[in-house]
This record gives sequence, structure tokens and C-alpha cells, in this order.
Amino acid sequence: MRAALKFPRFVPHCAAIYILANFLLPAQAQNASTPETHGIAVVNMDRSVKPGDDFFHYANGDWIKRTEIPPDRPGVNVFTSLADLSDKRTSSLIEEAAKANAPAGSNTRKIADLYNSFMDEPGIEAKGLAPLAPHLKAIAAISDKRQLARALGESLRADVDPLNNTNFHTPNLFGLWAAPGFSDPEHYALYLLQGGLDLPNREYYLSESEHMRQIRAQYLAHISTMLKLAGFTDPDARASRILDLEHAIAEKHLSLAENDDIHKADNTWTQADFNSKAPGLDWPEYFRGAGLSGQASFIVWQPTAFIGESALVASTTLETWKDWLAFHLIDTYADALPRAFDDERYAFFGRTLTGTPQQRPRWQRGVILVNGLLGDAVGQIYARRYFSAEAKAQAQSLVANLIAAFRQRIDALSWMDPATKAEAQAKLNTLYVGIGYPETWEDYSAYEVKTGDLLGNLWRSDLFEYRRAIARVGKPVDRHEWCMTPQTVNAVNLPLQNALNFPAAILQPPFFDPQAPDAVNYGAIGAVIGHEISHTFDTEGSTFDSKGRVRNWWTPADLAHFQAATAKLAEQYDTYKPFPDVSVNGKQTLAEDIADVAGISAAYDAYHAALKASGKPAPTQDGFTGDQQFFIAFGQNWRSKEREAALRRRILTDSHAPAQYRAATVRNIDPWYTAFDVQPGEALYLAPADRVRIW
Ligand SMILES: [Zn+2]
Repeated sequence: MRAALKFPRFVPHCAAIYILANFLLPAQAQNASTPETHGIAVVNMDRSVKPGDDFFHYANGDWIKRTEIPPDRPGVNVFTSLADLSDKRTSSLIEEAAKANAPAGSNTRKIADLYNSFMDEPGIEAKGLAPLAPHLKAIAAISDKRQLARALGESLRADVDPLNNTNFHTPNLFGLWAAPGFSDPEHYALYLLQGGLDLPNREYYLSESEHMRQIRAQYLAHISTMLKLAGFTDPDARASRILDLEHAIAEKHLSLAENDDIHKADNTWTQADFNSKAPGLDWPEYFRGAGLSGQASFIVWQPTAFIGESALVASTTLETWKDWLAFHLIDTYADALPRAFDDERYAFFGRTLTGTPQQRPRWQRGVILVNGLLGDAVGQIYARRYFSAEAKAQAQSLVANLIAAFRQRIDALSWMDPATKAEAQAKLNTLYVGIGYPETWEDYSAYEVKTGDLLGNLWRSDLFEYRRAIARVGKPVDRHEWCMTPQTVNAVNLPLQNALNFPAAILQPPFFDPQAPDAVNYGAIGAVIGHEISHTFDTEGSTFDSKGRVRNWWTPADLAHFQAATAKLAEQYDTYKPFPDVSVNGKQTLAEDIADVAGISAAYDAYHAALKASGKPAPTQDGFTGDQQFFIAFGQNWRSKEREAALRRRILTDSHAPAQYRAATVRNIDPWYTAFDVQPGEALYLAPADRVRIW
């Protein structure tokens, strides 16, 4: 996937991803400190703060005092430090590969050739538009709507993912996703999604705000400039017709919120259904172009968009569609064209759309590109170098203890129906928790990389991924397949696979350190993994059963009990006021707050089970007991400093509470009171009856 090159993509609302990527930033290298000690970072604590008054500042106060937010960033936290470290490591792996002179056909050679082809600016400049010429010629030769349908089909790519990575955007007419079927999650099915817009989503075309109007005016100029650079006559008139067409497409699109409702997305259409339900586009010809004539059915995510877009193919002139195809082609591959194209694309998508004044250095973009196209090839080297088999085994045993803890907690629940409990246990039985790196690596042997052919390399990669996707239809699902590379600092929940991925890059201090005491690992990464596991059987997880089928397995009574029990937690978060005029919205953050309580509760049980099994007392560190280390490590997960504007925006848009209140989750956990001798009158103190216990 090469989306990262197009415009920095944010994950605005992804329930599946543990840490919202609001902090995704220009990769300006900021050295992440390597801890000399293995355990909690005492040096970051402010011991003048009482833990019972403000646990976040107690655990992180000195770090906050001495840390300055770099001028080009909205904030810094654990996540950004680890991302910087991972970027640095990845770029040196790629640069090593680029110098290695590895045998032809090997992954290392592909990394080298791809990276070098991106860095060969004189070669790219010398070729001009020639690499794109055959494709532009083919578009120019389209003489009727039937040929248009075929060309539109030929442009279909596997470039969307509505559920795991929540990517709904493709500039092609439609996008394809190969994934476990909604009704038959044992086998791969093909999903088709709306597409056709170059701007990020429909709001950019339809919003009447002054800001969006200005963006549209600049977008119109951008289309015209690109066409002019490519030698088209009459670029202004063509640009305005293209924008009109995209505006009409946008009117047919579903909004982001509607896209999220998977019950609306579960529509199986046979090939014949496309003809009868969505007339306009020559569908048999479209599917022939896409190489999908033999495919009996598809899951259509947004039927109304398919009806609308198909009708637009009939009602809009052939010339407009050809210009739209040509412009999208040039814009999509601008980074493989001479500098004038690349700069123009950045001027609009980078500067205008994201407000980022400067394009990243070319070498950094090369690293991002290689990470995107050959992510597993890089990841394999990354994992070998930075994540040992021992670390993996240790993290896996931590996960096993967490699952055992959840098992006991579910059994002990008073509010859940026995049948629902049985399904929750079944989900735990089949849950796959991927640790560090995948069980198998993507095979790139069918992807041909050539030196000095950047555009061809990008084109062949898109086709390689597309063919790989359509080749899976009907095959049994590999539930152990990963959707993140080991070098990614994040975690993901794959509901159709009933699986979680925790890449190597997040399994690092302060989250996880094989040499740190158990107390610290369980308090830090244990609580994070516990948070994710709990999502598999909470209100989010209740939509998918143990086999990944879309089926609500909670009873109405379970839901009623759950809502009553959780209302108290929402009230607790409503009391948090980061600024005098702003409160946390406890309802908005509730699902994540519940998962935080569940995560730390299960991690605490699992830690004590591990301690008991070891037969040894918990080692102290700087006088802190095992339980104290456990809770401080949890508090240090949330080490964070953020600009006021960014924090205000987060409170409006993020489904997670701000870091300082996530650290305060501890006030719901009884052993925290014992560990720090927290007494009535201290700010975080809750009477035992007011502490929220859900799982
Ligand atoms: Zn979550």
C-alpha cells in the first residue's frame, strides 16, 4: 500500500487501533532514550506529588518538567519516541540493503533496487513523462463507453480496508478488499467499496465551509496545473469538468459514520445484481477488465454509491471520464515523475491539505516507500535484529497468563447470561494473539523490481497486491495472517479473524523489556494487551462471534446490565476537567475507559499468577514493592506532553481519554489503594462502592 506517500493519513476514529494516530508526525529524528536500567523509570517520577492526588504526575512529573515539545509537533509521548526509534532503525536497514550488492531476486536486492530507483532523481528527470506515456495513450484511445468500462475495470486495485486499517479511500472508481466473508469467515471473499475521489472524502466536496471552499478552489488549480504539465490542451476547462464529476460522485458517497456501520455493509451481489440494481456501467466489461469475470458474487459495502456511480458513468460524457482517468493516473504516480509533478502534488496535498510546509527529505520518503511496498521483507530483517525468540516466548507467556485471568474473570461475572459467558469463553479459546512478527512472511517472488524503473516498480507492486488479493477468493482464511509489519509502533484488532497483532516495534521499553521484572512488564504492556483482549468480548466485540461471523451474541439483558454498570464509569470521567472550560466526555470515551479498567485488572491478576508460579517474592527496585512497580509502570505508559490546542482537539475527536486520566484508571483497582496507602481525602480516592468493576 502506498497511501503513506499520497498524504499523511490519520486514523480518525478507528476502534480497532489501540492508540489513535493523532500524533503521526513528520519523521524528524528525535533520539529515543535507551534506558540504562530495566524497570520503571524512577528518573521520570515526581515524588513530591502524592500518588493518591495525581498519579499521572507522580509517575511522569519530572519527565514532563524537563521535556520540551519540538516546534514541528503537536506533542510527544511514549508512542512518538518509539516511532522515532523504529524509523531510525528501519532506515539504516534499508540503507544497508541498498549497499549490500545482494543476489538478483533476493528480498535484499529488491529492497536495494526499489530504494535506489526512488533515489535516482537524475534518471527520473531524464525520462520525463515517458514511463506513463503508454498508459496515457491507452486512455486517449478509448472510443466508447464499453471500452471505458473495461479501462475502469483495469484500474481496480486492492487499495481499501474498511475494518482492520480503516482505509476507505481510493481514487479509482471502486476499491477492492479481500478478507474473510461476513457470513463465511472461514473463507476469503471479495468486498467492493465506493471510490473515485482524489480528495480524502466526500466532505471536501460537499461542505459549504469557507475553509473547504478555499480547498476546492486550490484543488481546481492543482488539477489544471497537473494537466498542463502533462501537455494537455485546455487544462482549465478539463479541470472544471473533472471537479464537477468528482462533486457528483461525492454526492453518491456514504459518510464516514455510515461506512462504520457494518450491518449496512453486509450486501452480497451476484454479477447479475450489478446489472439489474446499478445500471449504467457496462458491468460484464468492467469485471472483464478487472480479471473478475469468473467471480460469482461480491460483498458491496455501499450499494447506494454503486448505484449512483454506475449511473454517472452513463450520464457523464466520455471525454470527461477520460480526462478524469488521465488526471488520476498522473496524480497517483506523481512521486515517480519529474520534480515539477512531484512538487505540484506536494504543494496541494502536503501544504494546502495538511498545512505541513515542507516535504520530507527524499531519503525519508524512500524509506517510507520501501516500508510500504516491501514491508515484510524489511520486517523480517527488523524482527531478526531487534526482537529475539526469547523476547517472543516471554511475551507469549505473558499473554497466556492474561487470557487465563480473563477466563476466571468472565466465569465470576454476576451480570452476564451463562450462554453469553460460554460464547465469550469460546472467543478466548480461538483468539490468536500475534506477538512481534507474523508466523509466515509475505512472498515477494512474483513482484519484479527493476533498477531505474520507479514507475514500473510502483505499478507492478499495485498489480502484485491486487493479484494476490483476488487469488485468495474461496481459499481458507489464515487467521494467523498479520495486517501490520513488525516495524510498526501500534497494535491492531482484526475482528473477522478474531485476532490481535502486537508488532515488535511496540514490544519495547517502556512497554516491554525482557530484562525488566514481571511487575513492570505486566503493568505496562500487560495492561495494553489486556485492554485489546477485552475489546473482543465487549460491546464492540459482541458484533462478531468466536468464528468471526457477524452475529450479535449478547442477550438484551446482558446489554442492559452492562450499560447500567458502565454508566458510573462515564460519570467518573465526566468529572475530569483538563481546562476550566472543558470536560472530558465520559460517554464518548466510555468503551475505551472500560477497556482500560479491564486491561489493568486482568494484568494485575496475571502478574500475581506469574509471581506465584515463580515461587519467589517480587524483587524491589529503588525501594518500590512489586505492586508499586506494577502500577507505576502502568502510569508510565501514559507519559505524554501535548500542546493545548492539540489536547482540546483530542477531547472533541478522540474516543480515548487524555493520557493523564488514563493513568488515573488505577483509582478503580483495590490493590492500588494498598500499594500506595491511599486515604480518603486524597484527590483520586474513591470509596470502595464507587470503584467501577465491570469485567
Ligand atoms: Zn481500545
